[in-house]
Amino acid sequence: MTHPDFLWRNPDPKPAYDVVIVGGGGHGLATAYYLAKNHGLTNVAVLERGWLAGGNMARNTTIIRSNYLWDESAAIYEHSLKLWEGLSDELDYDLQFSQRGVLNLAHNLGDVREGRRRVNANRLNGVDAEWLDADEVKKFCPIINVSDRARYPVMGATLQRRGGIAKHDHVAWALARQADAYGVDLIQGCEVTGFEITGGRVTAVETSRGRIAAGKVALAAAGHTSVLAERAGIRLPLQSHPLQALVSELLEPVLDCVVMSNAVHVYVSQAHKGELVMGAGIDAYNSYGQRGGVHVIEAQMAAALELFPIFSRARVLRTWAGIVDVSPDASPIIGPTPVDGLYINAGWGTGGFKATPGSGWVYAHTLAHERPHPLAEPFALDRFTTGALIDEHGAAAVAH
Ligand SMILES: Cc1cc2nc3c(=O)[nH]c(=O)nc-3n(C[C@H](O)[C@H](O)[C@H](O)COP(=O)(O)OP(=O)(O)OC[C@H]3O[C@@H](n4cnc5c(N)ncnc54)[C@H](O)[C@@H]3O)c2cc1C
Repeated sequence: MTHPDFLWRNPDPKPAYDVVIVGGGGHGLATAYYLAKNHGLTNVAVLERGWLAGGNMARNTTIIRSNYLWDESAAIYEHSLKLWEGLSDELDYDLQFSQRGVLNLAHNLGDVREGRRRVNANRLNGVDAEWLDADEVKKFCPIINVSDRARYPVMGATLQRRGGIAKHDHVAWALARQADAYGVDLIQGCEVTGFEITGGRVTAVETSRGRIAAGKVALAAAGHTSVLAERAGIRLPLQSHPLQALVSELLEPVLDCVVMSNAVHVYVSQAHKGELVMGAGIDAYNSYGQRGGVHVIEAQMAAALELFPIFSRARVLRTWAGIVDVSPDASPIIGPTPVDGLYINAGWGTGGFKATPGSGWVYAHTLAHERPHPLAEPFALDRFTTGALIDEHGAAAVAH
């Protein structure tokens, strides 16, 4: 039962919870929702140092797809895409989920080979995928410049028709509303500053609003995960980078699909309201400043103009950055840590929005059963010592 006047309560923290989730972005909220819905665990708090979903959840370009190369990745991202397909109904909220198709452009022979290989791998995994030549790309998206005189000519593209976008704020609010309705405490303005660890087990978190005891602690802090884990004595193989995006002024509908290009480093869609939403590659340096360098935005716009000459007179409305947590194999890390009771869900880097429901689903299962969900198992932290890496740099090379 949800409250008619507001989406969630604003409770003070209780002294103790069965599960404390650190980070109130999409992944933290989805985890709380599925903990309650799938596992009946409702003595749960989500602690957010700022305001709910004001981190990467508010800053991403909302591209959703599941066309990753390796079996393990295709399985978890496809699970997520299937959840997206029923999520508006399930949460009783219009998430503006729009399966308008995602193109990944190829600009050289290497891209073409990689794209075709990925289409075949996707089909073997039951993920919809098509290969389009340059003429078919032009037919699917008429405003793309496919001239062979471009600096990086379009030689073809992969197309996932079930891919698309959703409205990120609505996703966060809908998950928050349902989690709250189950009795989960969503606590904003509450920064986790440390962990109480007794006999190798986490027993409480220290926060800007006092000590909170916890049966289990689940990190879902995206770009700040390595900073937090260090306070529990764990060094993670993650690097935090700014990732920038921008929106144009509102335009009439001109683009009805999502276009991504690794080689020229831009990805673009048109939001329901009318803005062109464009993302860049990561800023090369490590940082926690949510701004990023102007030269990156400049290169991103140059790339966009080459692909879409029609954008040349569109004006930029605003630019921003989020802090993304990049792992060495461009795949997430999900599961237990060397500290008993302390769990991690991180490393989604530039591409975790699409995983929001799937990630929450497998993380909640992992927390409830105290062992990894089968889809999460390959993404354990120990793969960086066993060498069983899941290298998704091809599918995830451009931020998205
Ligand atoms: C510009 C940009 C474009 C992107 N585009 C896409 C895209 O098109 N498609 C896609 O799939 N993904 C995309 N991503 C990636 C995606 O946004 C992230 O992978 C995903 O949002 C991460 O999960 P989250 O939503 O839980 O993170 P966040 O929303 O960042 O949540 C983490 C939360 O933890 C909180 N926190 C941190 N430290 C503490 C602490 N000590 N105590 C309490 N709380 C704390 C933060 O305040 C934050 O709210 C993009 C990211 C950016 C920045």
